[in-house]
Amino acid sequence: FKPYPQQIEVMEFVSKCFKESKNALVESPTGTGKSLIIRAIMLEYLKSSNQNQQQQQQTSKLPDWLFQAAIKAEQNQIAVESSSVQKLRDTLKNIHYFPQNSVNFINQLCVMNNIDFVQQQQINDLLTYTYQPQHKQAIFSSRTHSQLQQFQKQIQLTSTALASRKVYCMHQSKQDIEDIDYFCKNNSCIYRKQEQLLVGLVKSFQSADFVQAAQKESACPYYVSLLRQNLSDVILMTHQQLDESFNQNAVLFVDEAHQLINVVKQKHEAEVSLAELDQFQLKLEQYLQKSTFLAENTFLSLSQILMQLQKLIKLTKYLQNQFVAASKADLAKLLAEFDLVIFIKAEIELFRRERFTHRIRQKLNEQVIYKALQFLELLCHEDVQSQFLLVGSHDQQSENQKNFRLKLVHLEPKMELKYKNVACFGGTLQKDSFTKHFTQKFEFLQVGHIIQKDQLKIKVIKELQGKEFVFNSQTQQNEQIYHDLALYVQNKRKTLPKEQNMLVFMPNYASIEKLKKSIQLENFTIEQPGTPLQKYEERCKLENHVMIGVAGGSLAEGIDFKDDLCRFLIIIGIPFPNIGDFYVKEMLKMDKDYLLHQAFIKVNQCIGRAVRWVGDWASVELIDSRFTQYWDYLSYWIKQIGQSK
Ligand code: SF4
Repeated sequence: FKPYPQQIEVMEFVSKCFKESKNALVESPTGTGKSLIIRAIMLEYLKSSNQNQQQQQQTSKLPDWLFQAAIKAEQNQIAVESSSVQKLRDTLKNIHYFPQNSVNFINQLCVMNNIDFVQQQQINDLLTYTYQPQHKQAIFSSRTHSQLQQFQKQIQLTSTALASRKVYCMHQSKQDIEDIDYFCKNNSCIYRKQEQLLVGLVKSFQSADFVQAAQKESACPYYVSLLRQNLSDVILMTHQQLDESFNQNAVLFVDEAHQLINVVKQKHEAEVSLAELDQFQLKLEQYLQKSTFLAENTFLSLSQILMQLQKLIKLTKYLQNQFVAASKADLAKLLAEFDLVIFIKAEIELFRRERFTHRIRQKLNEQVIYKALQFLELLCHEDVQSQFLLVGSHDQQSENQKNFRLKLVHLEPKMELKYKNVACFGGTLQKDSFTKHFTQKFEFLQVGHIIQKDQLKIKVIKELQGKEFVFNSQTQQNEQIYHDLALYVQNKRKTLPKEQNMLVFMPNYASIEKLKKSIQLENFTIEQPGTPLQKYEERCKLENHVMIGVAGGSLAEGIDFKDDLCRFLIIIGIPFPNIGDFYVKEMLKMDKDYLLHQAFIKVNQCIGRAVRWVGDWASVELIDSRFTQYWDYLSYWIKQIGQSK
């Protein structure tokens, strides 16, 4: 395999950044083999850092002491009739909690099996999660677990995909367990015995599928994954997991980096209704009244949360009749007036750590407590008086005053990626919009597509039915426009050979609903929010099919429309954010191009659906005369490759 010049350019760029201890940000379109590039850089980095250890057998990288301990542990599992082993087994029967009792367990295991002191320390560190990796590691992050699995299959390195207990739990009935973390921490489990975990850990390195290998040893894959992570070359995790602390000496590779911005935003916003705050307050009050057995500190912490909650309820009631939105100076004044500038982060952490949600909630939906806590926690953010927006809204469908809800949003959220070096890759990245969300600096590279110029044709359609076509909030109310669009889409479809499919993107669900009424197609699928991607994947394999979705929706992100699945792509209108939204108004004050930036992230993503690999080709039509005016906002590679007719 000979790499394309674009791939070499990226590899050299990232390697240079790493050598100079800099972070890299790479915009490289879909279909240019990003995952291959990441694997190559990762391998090269680990190889040079770990003195060619990758060329050895995978399992030989495991330290000898671990093998020795696992062999001993396995021997202990075989019923050997000796009084000392029996004594050990009796002791182990009582050890269910992990890792609190591990020191005890390890001491006994080592003494009884003549494992020396140094090895004893190492095993102890491993089982108490304080073991420091002895080699360089890489972390790979992507949006979903299935993307991680796909990457994991391709790398020739030892790797561990981190996932929740819900994913890895071995209990058949796990779907019925409401809170698996709570269940797991508060029940002894036959799959969490330390001998089994140790054996499962070593066996897991001898198999391509560590989950299956651990399960075979009756060792919980969740705990085995925690033990494995410091012994693996690569740790895989979703974007959501990135701000938890892992090996900070590792290098981080982020795929689908544009999605990471959404994660940063989600972690800096919270929404709760007055009814939800009231419900939480009631449960917490009742719990505190009857819980005389609580330790004094715990009681004080919960009381602090209750006090803060009561003040927040007061503020919400005050705001519900007249309130629209408050930002920066207004918000600082409001919070001071209601005495809400109090730091109770430690108390909230204790509440979560000790899992009070389950102790107090009784019949209350746990989501109510999660939401209220997230809101209270965000009120403790150091920027709350200077960078946040508070928006109030009434539930449209309800007369009930209690459905008044508050939304608290950080206007410029930032995340710190605490790793040695970071390399972020995405098909649609705008340097400034991306880097402003991270504390570290990035070197930026844009690369072109590996397809040839005649493989992507882009045309702006300025007129429909002989009249200039602009699809904005006014014209979207005009029913006739949907008849014209439906006719246009139907005629286009007729021009396609039978085996080819077509993809249409519109700016919002409301316009799709209107188009649906006018369209006369037997073979088309309309995107519905919440529909699993799998359903669409089945439909788009049908021939001569038209998929209609929202720019920025699930059809624009998760499905690989390669080859005949999409030979013709239409984008109707420019998907600007809603100008009436308070958040959008605030963002516009800080960035006058905010609307265009946001809209063209979606447009570029949609166009990226059409060409998925070096042999792919497609035609794209942008239906709205304003596309000519904003041509510069298209991605670098689209302008470079796309031939405008
Ligand atoms: S130890 Fe593993 S298998 Fe057992 S309850 Fe916890 S997650 Fe489930």
